[in-house]
Amino acid sequence: MSATVTVVGGGYGGTAVAKELDDVADVVLVEPRDSFFHNIAALRALVDPAWADRIFLPYDRLLRRGRVVRDHAVRVAPDGVELASGVRLASDFIVLATGSTYPFPAKLDVDDSAAAKERLRTAHEQLAAADRVLLLGAGPVGLELAGEIKAAFPDKAVTIVDPGHDVITGEDLPDEFRAELRRQLAELGVELVLGTTLTAEPVPDPGTLKPFTVTTQSGRTLAADIWFRCFGGSVLTDYLADELAVARQPNGRLDVTPDLRLAGADRVFALGDITAIPEAKKAAAARAHAEVVAANIRTLLEAGSSADLATYQPDEPGIAVPLGPRAGASYARKYGGLLDAATTSQLKGADLLVGEFAELFGLVD
Ligand SMILES: Cc1cc2nc3c(=O)[nH]c(=O)nc-3n(C[C@H](O)[C@H](O)[C@H](O)COP(=O)(O)OP(=O)(O)OC[C@H]3O[C@@H](n4cnc5c(N)ncnc54)[C@H](O)[C@@H]3O)c2cc1C
Repeated sequence: MSATVTVVGGGYGGTAVAKELDDVADVVLVEPRDSFFHNIAALRALVDPAWADRIFLPYDRLLRRGRVVRDHAVRVAPDGVELASGVRLASDFIVLATGSTYPFPAKLDVDDSAAAKERLRTAHEQLAAADRVLLLGAGPVGLELAGEIKAAFPDKAVTIVDPGHDVITGEDLPDEFRAELRRQLAELGVELVLGTTLTAEPVPDPGTLKPFTVTTQSGRTLAADIWFRCFGGSVLTDYLADELAVARQPNGRLDVTPDLRLAGADRVFALGDITAIPEAKKAAAARAHAEVVAANIRTLLEAGSSADLATYQPDEPGIAVPLGPRAGASYARKYGGLLDAATTSQLKGADLLVGEFAELFGLVD
């Protein structure tokens, strides 16, 4: 009889660890969605509905032996996971990979892919009919969305408002990278209104075509037809039973040991956006965590609890910010620093990694 590994959350990190352990353990992947949501390409799917079919990848061919249970974990204890349906999954190992939420359209709050596609289609129609777009937030999501809108609809007026005095101020990146993004945004005709906030949020719901006017703290009046919120992600980890909840910080992130276990719990691992590891939250990091977690569970299965475990080392800061399929900039210290639009397009912007993920999900013959 092999050990049972319950992976909670089938996003970037959870699917990687589930696939990696499929041949050595009975893997149960718990995930409320009917399909993996490749959110890295979600903003393209808003401006180009043809992409909506490429970003929802069914789980059926991900695992050979293991199974995917479509449900929510509501309580996680050191020896098992309780689901919203009432089912309890007794587990030898548990991997927490429940990720983060983010306002639409970067992430979605519906679990059914047909309903999600419909939501994207409706927002696309409203956006297509708008002349003026307001984006709140000049982080990577606000900038990427501005670039996607300008690539698909060059004549729309796009304005970004952010309290920071530059773009992408939340990450440890050099000024030359920010300057290059600002230069390209100006070339595309995107207006940046930085160092100020709105006195009040727009009245219409985000993603809805309805003309409105707002005022900034600096005294400017801005009129637009539609707006999107490009800030405000959060993590939901309130499912931890008392024995595990000591690992939970007030912001919901989980403290993990260097081998990616919850402190004091030797068979419960956590990875991805929910961890409190001081690094930028990225799918690439979640997948690097998954490699360490899978290796450590393998070691514990093969050599027992006294074996030495692998530890996770955060990568150097790096980011790719496409501004549509052909523009954008990247920064990666290990590849020489600032990377231009053509390299950014090649790295991410052209296909937004859909090919790589389709292959991982067994969807390429
Ligand atoms: C627009 C955009 C572009 C991005 N581009 C990049 C990029 O180019 N490169 C990069 O590295 N990163 C990128 N990121 C960041 C990346 O998407 C996140 O870091 C990544 O999603 C984190 O992966 P994760 O596995 O931790 O969680 P997620 O991918 O968020 O997956 C978590 C999963 O857990 C499920 N879940 C939640 N609660 C429960 C529960 N109670 N029970 C069971 N399942 C649950 C959710 O349904 C979800 O499927 C981008 C993000 C956005 C928004």
